[in-house]
Order: sequence, then structure tokens, then C-alpha cells
Amino acid sequence: MEPVIGVVPVRQILTKSKLPGADYAVNPYVGCAHACRYCFASFMARHSVHGGPWGSFVDVKYWEPVKRPGAYAGKRILLSSVTDPYQPAEAKYRRTRAFLESMQGSGCRLSILTKSDLVLRDLDLIRTFPGAEVTWSVNTLDEAFRRDMDRAASIERRLAAMRTFHEAGVVTGCFIAPVFPGITDVRAIIRRVRDRCRCIEVDGLNLRGPYARTIFAYIAARRPALLPLYEDIYRKGNGAYWAHLREELAAVAAEEGLPFAEGGSPRPRWDGAPAVVSYL
Ligand code: SF4
Repeated sequence: MEPVIGVVPVRQILTKSKLPGADYAVNPYVGCAHACRYCFASFMARHSVHGGPWGSFVDVKYWEPVKRPGAYAGKRILLSSVTDPYQPAEAKYRRTRAFLESMQGSGCRLSILTKSDLVLRDLDLIRTFPGAEVTWSVNTLDEAFRRDMDRAASIERRLAAMRTFHEAGVVTGCFIAPVFPGITDVRAIIRRVRDRCRCIEVDGLNLRGPYARTIFAYIAARRPALLPLYEDIYRKGNGAYWAHLREELAAVAAEEGLPFAEGGSPRPRWDGAPAVVSYL
């Protein structure tokens, strides 16, 4: 289903960020047609004038030109924190591209996070930004589960785009998140992506948002054998699953000859073999 498209004028597109590793965030759209069932930003649907569920609307932002782009030299800018900068609307409205064009030569450091391969369109532009990083979220290699969870590009398309950027010399990453207990095969994903990225970050599913009910309903209907595990983790607060997964991650990294680090500041450098970083 095509989302309802709106237009919103905003004064500024750059907002200060408290996220680790990002000085500023840029969200060229409000809403996201990728409609991930576990989206942490889905609460924003409640504040939308469109009234539909998350994924059913996208507002296209138009902003005043960035004053003094050079003032952002050395600053890490995240695209995006509450939307996907390369969701389908970007093919037509090109707001992410407009932002990148306006910042070319500024010396800012880009961190792009997406579930799309539309970013390939902007490869030549992105590679002009020193230190640019492009990361794809991949939390399964199972397309059926992926389709159950989001309406973004297929996993194969994301992996192909990651390879193209990597081969073009752009720093690439894989964000294995959110890890679904009993479903996400972290080991298989690491083995699949290790030849095409510099950093593999891993984070678990948290069910503190309003989408908890949706996920529990999904598990009950489609993976009932996992329901006791989910109740143990999310209703009884048992952290043993994550502790075990942390140990497994360290073991997989050792088997694969990859550096392993616990997440947090400062971020590990992305200049050697892909580091496995756990935020679990
Ligand atoms: S791609 Fe990101 S912002 Fe978009 S719905 Fe999924 S989790 Fe939310």
C-alpha cells in the first residue's frame, strides 16, 4: 500500500543528537514506509495529522538552507534517527540527496543508516565525504521473517549494496538489530557480511515500546514454541539469554579471527578487519 504523502516546512534540518557517536541527526522525512513492526519511532504516528498506523504516511520536509555548512566540519551527522533516509519516497523527492549536496565540501562526517539499496544512487556523492560510513540493518537472512517484519528492501539487495560500497572504498557497517531471541542467527549473519564491511554491531530487541503487544502477538501466532522464552526475557526480566549471547558473540568473533568489543564510547576504529561490537 502506498503511503499518504504530505509536505512539512521546517526551519532547520540539523538537530543536535544525544545518540552515541552522532553530534547531529538529520531526518528528511517524518514517518517511514518501511513500517518495521518493531520500530522505536512508531509512537510518532500518534502525533501525525494523517491518523493512520506507522508506515501509512510520510511527510516530506523542506527546510531553510543550512547556514555555514563549514561550521559542521569534523562533526558526525547521522542520517537518520527516526526515519529511513532512503525509503521509497526519496526516489521521487530527493530530500536526502538535497541535504548531501548542500553539505558537500563542508568537512562533516556522515553516518548513514538504512534498510534500502536506493543509497546506491548517491554512491558517487557520498564517497566525496571524507570518513563517510554507510550501515545497513540486517537482523535475519530469512526473507520470510524479514517480510513479516518490514516492507524495506530484501536482505539480498541490502547485502549487494553493502558490497558495492565496500568495493568502492566507502566504510560500510552491518547493524544486526534488533536481535530477535530464538530467531536471529547472529553467527550466520556475521559469516555472510564479514567480507564486505568494517564493523558489525549487534543490539537486542527491546520491548519497552507500544509495539510490544504486536511482537508478542506475532510470536504467539507464528512462533508459539518461542513464547515461553519471550515471556521469560520480557515479562520476567531474565537477562540470561543476552548474557549467553554476549559470550557466543565473543566466541564467534574469536573463531572468525575478528576483533570483539563491548559497545560504548569511544567507538572502535573502523580501519581493519570488521570488528564485532556488542551492545547487548
Ligand atoms: S527503517 Fe527504521 S525508521 Fe523506518 S520503520 Fe524501520 S526501524 Fe523505523
